[in-house]
Amino acid sequence: MSGVSLRDLRKSYGALDVIHGASLDIKEGEFVVFVGPSGCGKSTMLRMIAGLEEISGGTVSIGGKEMNAVPARDRGVAMVFQNYALYPHMSVRENMGFGLKNMGFAKKDIAERVNNAAEILQLTPYLDRKPKALSGGQRQRVAIGRAIVREPDVFLFDEPLSNLDAALRVQTRTEISQLHARLGATMIYVTHDQTEALTMADRIVVLRDGVIEQVGAPLDLYDRPANLFVAGFIGAPK
Ligand code: ADP
Ligand code: MG
Repeated sequence: MSGVSLRDLRKSYGALDVIHGASLDIKEGEFVVFVGPSGCGKSTMLRMIAGLEEISGGTVSIGGKEMNAVPARDRGVAMVFQNYALYPHMSVRENMGFGLKNMGFAKKDIAERVNNAAEILQLTPYLDRKPKALSGGQRQRVAIGRAIVREPDVFLFDEPLSNLDAALRVQTRTEISQLHARLGATMIYVTHDQTEALTMADRIVVLRDGVIEQVGAPLDLYDRPANLFVAGFIGAPK
């Protein structure tokens, strides 16, 4: 297991500065939610932690080791995306094992990890189905399965529920919280949904225009927002 530390993390796209020196220590096993309006830099932060985006300044450390020069596949992180496109011609089993196959894992190890992840996600009866024969919630669970089979120390979720309808969002968010309790892995979860942030997080990080406005436990932010922006986003209704 690994914590994640960000030190003065910066990102610019050309002349556009999108992350302005973010510092944060996420403890091993913590569930941290990044929340903020569209365009505030949530996905950019996750992609820099994952190693999918070049860092313009500062450092990302995972498990106490600086990761700036470490390629994505060696960081011990796995990311679940909002757009969780599965390969339509592959079965659930093949979709979940595909990444490991590319990484050169033996067939036997892939089968074991896929079976284990399917059991955790209650997907065992669906392993030989194609994605089109699954519900939206089941498809999203397959996408989460692709992350689980990599046995990462750190899970990164980028708005994983935004393509699901309201009822499924509630169910899937409960399942992700249960997954966290079961695996004990560090999880960083991005959303623009206040309810998700308040119900799922050990700590919430409120982002605005590439700046961390406030970090705290859900009740702290709810009761004692640092400013009007945080209050408007997460605080108690006035
Ligand atoms: P969020 O996930 O919070 O909606 P993003 O991290 O996707 O925000 O984007 C933050 C800012 O960076 C936005 O202004 C966005 O337009 C800009 N941005 C993101 N990716 C790129 C890119 N590849 N090139 C240029 N600008 C980008
Ligand atoms: Mg985003």
